[in-house]
Formats: sequence, structure tokens, C-alpha cells
Amino acid sequence: MTTEHISALMDITPRPEAVFTDGSGAWLKDSTGNRYLDFVQGWAVNTLGHASPVIVEALQNQAQRLINCSPAYFNAPMIKLAALLRDLSGLDQCFFANSGAEANEGAIKLARKWGQQHKGGAYEIITTVGGFHGRTLATMSASGKPQWDALFEPKVPGFTKVPLNDLSALQTTISDKTVAIMLEPIQGEAGVIPATDAYLKAVWQLCREQNILLIFDEIQTGIGRTGTLFAFEQLGFTPDIVTLGKGIGGGVPLSALLASNPASCFSHGDQGGTFNGNPLMTAVGHAVVSKVAQPLFLAHVNAMSDYLTKKLTWLSDSYKLGGVRGRGLLLALELSRGNGPEIVKNAHANGLLINSPRPTSLRFMPALNVTVAEMDAMIDILDKVLAETYAPAMA
Ligand SMILES: *Cc1c(COP(=O)(O)O)cnc(C)c1O
Repeated sequence: MTTEHISALMDITPRPEAVFTDGSGAWLKDSTGNRYLDFVQGWAVNTLGHASPVIVEALQNQAQRLINCSPAYFNAPMIKLAALLRDLSGLDQCFFANSGAEANEGAIKLARKWGQQHKGGAYEIITTVGGFHGRTLATMSASGKPQWDALFEPKVPGFTKVPLNDLSALQTTISDKTVAIMLEPIQGEAGVIPATDAYLKAVWQLCREQNILLIFDEIQTGIGRTGTLFAFEQLGFTPDIVTLGKGIGGGVPLSALLASNPASCFSHGDQGGTFNGNPLMTAVGHAVVSKVAQPLFLAHVNAMSDYLTKKLTWLSDSYKLGGVRGRGLLLALELSRGNGPEIVKNAHANGLLINSPRPTSLRFMPALNVTVAEMDAMIDILDKVLAETYAPAMA
């Protein structure tokens, strides 16, 4: 593959030169035969690692039976997955889409429709500073990424941002135009910034008092990532609307919009999409969710989380990095010196793939079935990289 070939792709992000050809479990291989330990996993997407037999089998079986029959017809996997998600989440209804942004667009539409029906046309959705909800125009407008403020103007109106974990800012921002509050239980792209449990519980309470919908964007935190199938399970309430993406397909494009009966107010023609609920992707989603929802599987996620937290804390103490945060297998190491991109590059050169969502943090999002041996291998490489990166400055 030459530069000439590569230039046929829009240059939308700085990519390392490697061209990946094969994946197995926690490992990726490039076209020159180099192996990499993968702690990015498709951006918290490959729930069961690369080439998981669970996913390969679901794909093969379904591909031989039915790949697509039009979203205007029912298919068996779509019905099965919707019922499974209903039973596991306690929410009543489900709409499938292909990306997280699309699920969030659906959540925004649902909230606005509900506002027209039940709140005198209230349409405003309060979101959070630093929040990330996707890259369509509406979801970019809902996101609180300061670098995006001036992009692709004019933005979609109707979104107001408040700082995360600041209840009084939220209270004073609510008006009779407010129809919903939309947030991530842990802000992933912002660098793994958790909302506190007390804040989220108070937000839920506030929503009940004011008759406002609560939308949880669990595209990154859902499907076992934080140690329970859904992050909201750790809070003792169920939001009105929950969006899922990333991990639900275990690597294939699938997302879901879940809503409680009162919030699930689409009529015919309000929502759709050519590939929604297609049997190939929903069959994979069903296999992934069935696997992850098993108590033993989730116990493994929690055990691996404790292990990784301990190891990262040790690295943080050794190199005076600033601490570890996050939950489950969505963890970040603070880098007080702000050299994330340099460490990511050095790790890549040493055969480790990690991500730095902000220069001041490294993010770890391994497959949920990661092993202790793989964790140890990752920590060894990272230790070496940190030693090389910081040795001159420390001397
Ligand atoms: C990744 C992500 C999205 C967007 O999902 P896409 O599949 O990239 O559209 C939305 N919200 C959160 C919290 C995410 O992490």
C-alpha cells in the first residue's frame, strides 16, 4: 500500500503508518507482520476482543440465513435483541440504528416529540460541558467540546450546556423550554471524567420534580464497560431514555435507542433508516449482549478492573503522574505533564496501542474479556515507555 493509494482516503485524522490486517483477542497484526497489544479495541467497541468466536459464529450463521430484508419488515434477530434489551434494562422499547450519533439523534427527536405532546412545545435539551454525543450536526451541537464551537456554523439550536457535577448550574438553567437533560455517566472523550453518583441521583430527582426527561448516553459506558451491563444500574434508578452503541455490536456497526413507555412516543414516519434493525447486525448484538450479561462475565470485568486500577495506581505513584480514574474497564491515567500524544506514539513503537483523549490523560479500554497476562504485558510495555519518556527529565 503506497502513499499514492492512501491519498484516496480523506485525511480526517493523523494515523500511524501501520496498516492492520489481522486481529485475535487482545492482539493486532499489521501488513509487515508486527504485533500490537490492543488496549484501544476499536475505541471501546470490541467487547469480546478481535475475532471472537462468539461474533464470528453469529455472523456466519446469520449471513447464511438472512442478511437484509428491509426495515419495513420484521426479522427474527431484531425482535429477539429488542426483547433481551427490554428484559435486561427495564426500559420498554427499542429502536436500532448503526452508530452512536444516530442513536442520540433519535433520543433528541424523541425528547422533542415528547415536549410537543406533553410540555407545550418545550424543546431545549441541557447537556454538559465536555460531553460528547457524536459527529452529526445535532449531536455536535449537543456536545460540549470547546474546539467544536466555531465549526460548521450555524449549529442546531436548542442545546444549553452546564458544567458536569454542578447541580446549582443545572437548577438555574432549567426553564419552561427545557424538555430533557442528556449526559454521559462518565464522560469518555473528555478524558474519562465521572459524574458523581450523588450528582446523577440529584439530577434524576430534579427531572422527576420538573417533569423533564433524563437521557443517559451510555454509548461508551454501556454493555458491561463499567462493571454492570448498564452504568445506570449502579445508581438505583432507570433513566427515561438510554442510548447504546460501541460495545453493543462487539465491532460491527450497531446502536440502540431505548425508552420507557411514556417517553417512547414515535408515530409512523417519525423515525427510520435503511439499515435499522438489520438481521446481520442485530444477530451479532444478541450474541454479544447475551454473553456480557452473564454474572460470571461481569464478575470478570470487575476483577480485571480492580487489577488494572491497582497496576495503574502503581505506575502513577512511581512516575508521579496524577492518579487513576474511571470505572470498570473504562479507566484513565492522569498525565500531569500533558504529554499524552508522545506516550501514545512511543507505546505504538513498542507494540502497545493506547489512546490519549486529551494530552493530560491516557485512556484504557481493553476488551472486556482481557486476561491478567495481557494486563501484565501492557503494564510492562507502559512502564518501559514511561521510564524512557521521563528518565531524561527526572535525572
Ligand atoms: C462514541 C460516542 C458517541 C458517538 O458514537 P458514533 O458511533 O461514533 O457515532 C456518542 N456518545 C458517546 C458517549 C460516545 O462515546
